[in-house]
Amino acid sequence: MRIISLGSGSQGNSYIVESGNTAVMIDCGFNCKQLCIKAEAADFDLSRLSGILLTHEHTDHIAALKVFRKKFNLAIYSNSMTAEKTAARLGMDIDDFFCFENYQSFEIGELSIVPFSTPHDAVDSVGYFINSPDGAYFHGTDFGTPLESIGRFFEAADFATLESNHDLSLLWQSDRSIDLKRRIAGESTGHLSNEQAALLVKKFASNKLKRLALAHLSEDCNSPHLAERSMREALAHLGREDVSLCILDRFSPVRIV
Ligand SMILES: [Zn+2]
Ligand SMILES: [Zn+2]
Repeated sequence: MRIISLGSGSQGNSYIVESGNTAVMIDCGFNCKQLCIKAEAADFDLSRLSGILLTHEHTDHIAALKVFRKKFNLAIYSNSMTAEKTAARLGMDIDDFFCFENYQSFEIGELSIVPFSTPHDAVDSVGYFINSPDGAYFHGTDFGTPLESIGRFFEAADFATLESNHDLSLLWQSDRSIDLKRRIAGESTGHLSNEQAALLVKKFASNKLKRLALAHLSEDCNSPHLAERSMREALAHLGREDVSLCILDRFSPVRIV
């Protein structure tokens, strides 16, 4: 299995998940030229892609979708509410989307994919659990609280990308408006803090977990050092110092697996 982050943060998010002859992109949140440059830097040939999975309709996850889909002639997969919202935002045809139901598994080539619901300020956001002959991958970003229904998928994963968006005290100290702070910290609207990411891992990491990538770090309310320290403490608490940990860069590609 090859899993690559092409960049992760509020300026854009895009990932590639590949097993055998099948490769999909999760989210398409940079512009088309940037995506091509990043993929080349990561030594990934974009013509290998079979489709794009969307998590939700926020700009940092869909920015290039319309142009990129056309350029590479790709199928787009999302639930119907996200499809409608995205199509309206980007002026796309709803027929360009293959719509799934959350929690109903579907196949793309060698990948078996289960979308699961996430609490966030989007119409119907999801994360993905992707099973392949090489192992199982958990992809969870942009959610406000570490729900058990999300943790159950994390528990079954060999490899995981998990949001570690902000340090709570840095968030409240920041000069953001009180409304924005409340939205980011909100359980049903926001993003997972370092503390909440650590909690999810403490509660749900199983012996299967080999590799963990921390994603969607806030530029001013977090630092790679703080996110890493918090997660290393959680892993040490579990006696799982053997789990390989990486912190995703906001713009540069990182090979997760
Ligand atoms: Zn986002
Ligand atoms: Zn979002």
